[in-house]
Amino acid sequence: MQSLNILVIGGGIGGLTAAIALRRQGLNVEIVEKDPDWAVYGVGIIQQSNVVRAMSQLGILDAYLDAAFGFDFVEVFLPTGEKVARVPSPRLVGGYPANLGVRRPALHKVLGDSATAAGARIRLGVTATELKDDGAGVDVRFSDGGQGRYDIVVGADGLYSATREMLFPDAPRPEFTGQSVWRYNLPRPQDLDALQAYEGPVGVGLVPLSQTLMYMFLTTPEPGNPRYERQGLAAAMRSKLPTGAPAIRALADQITDDDGVVYKPMECLFLSGDWHKGRVVLLGDAVHATTPHLGQGAGMAIEDAIVLAEELAAQDTPEAAFQAFQARRFDRCAYITRVSRALGDAQLGKGPPMEQAKVTREMFEVTSRPI
Ligand SMILES: Cc1cc2nc3c(=O)[nH]c(=O)nc-3n(C[C@H](O)[C@H](O)[C@H](O)COP(=O)(O)OP(=O)(O)OC[C@H]3O[C@@H](n4cnc5c(N)ncnc54)[C@H](O)[C@@H]3O)c2cc1C
Repeated sequence: MQSLNILVIGGGIGGLTAAIALRRQGLNVEIVEKDPDWAVYGVGIIQQSNVVRAMSQLGILDAYLDAAFGFDFVEVFLPTGEKVARVPSPRLVGGYPANLGVRRPALHKVLGDSATAAGARIRLGVTATELKDDGAGVDVRFSDGGQGRYDIVVGADGLYSATREMLFPDAPRPEFTGQSVWRYNLPRPQDLDALQAYEGPVGVGLVPLSQTLMYMFLTTPEPGNPRYERQGLAAAMRSKLPTGAPAIRALADQITDDDGVVYKPMECLFLSGDWHKGRVVLLGDAVHATTPHLGQGAGMAIEDAIVLAEELAAQDTPEAAFQAFQARRFDRCAYITRVSRALGDAQLGKGPPMEQAKVTREMFEVTSRPI
């Protein structure tokens, strides 16, 4: 299909990538983002080899890499601190590192700048309040009083997607898994050249972000999903650190700034039915929100965006494009969501134990396959 006017709801990782991919197919794109400040929290994110390949495909890998730290291995440690594996990540783009660690604001800047440079129009502080699909197009009302008509609407508005609510009011709600994640930026030790993951009921990870910076993540059981006040958050994070590994214990004293702690309960969701209705389609966390155990949630949203743009360009009707999109994405996204949840359940003692190194190798094998 050519000359489509497309509205993307949500200017996050999936929505921005969709805008870049759709513009590369020559389609017209407008994004509405509800947050007027377009704020992104300051800790980092892991982008694995399939994301490196995706960024290369979108022509923005060099800008991405400039904002990030590249690495080629995932190292696995026992809770005692003993290293048990150094798992190589596949290099999917010649001459580039396999994986990246990147600060979320830097990632958003690269994607936002690239979407704008590609010709996407981005409106902040605006959302869609009504979608009326008459089969030939979608009439949209916006929160700023405006309205517009589009050939296609893409809901990329995340875990609590209002677009999903409008399309599928009976869809499952996000589910708290019993764990939370604590994250904090720290100076990078000069010898940290891999993602380091410590096994145990409380998981710990160290991810390089730049020559000088890394972030620590901590996955903890949080029965009853308690609320933590901002004041005292650093002390709370310190108190959750496992004490077995000397290298982790040594970092505790540096976790001092309550405002630097990013705390998030883990929630997940998977839509097993249709991901579209009429001319409106959903992608990313709006349809498959995973826990971060495999570091692949954003990777899945980014791949979704590329596949959707390819199918919209290749197919004759939106229905055919959306069906082909979901068929290409379903199994991989289901796999990531299922295995991530199983890793969390294993940490909580609610499921069989899982070997992190084995699971990581398998994840790289699955996500290396073409999208
Ligand atoms: C603790 C944690 C750690 C993670 N770590 C990793 C990792 O290391 N690697 C990885 O690949 N993934 C990771 N993820 C997952 C990753 O963050 C998500 O999968 C990814 O952000 C999904 O992208 P998205 O575009 O679908 O949603 P989002 O990134 O959430 O973007 C949605 C956007 O839509 C906007 N929006 C919301 N509602 C509306 C509305 N009604 N109208 C308009 N705009 C709206 C939001 O403001 C936001 O900008 C992690 C997730 C968590 C919770």
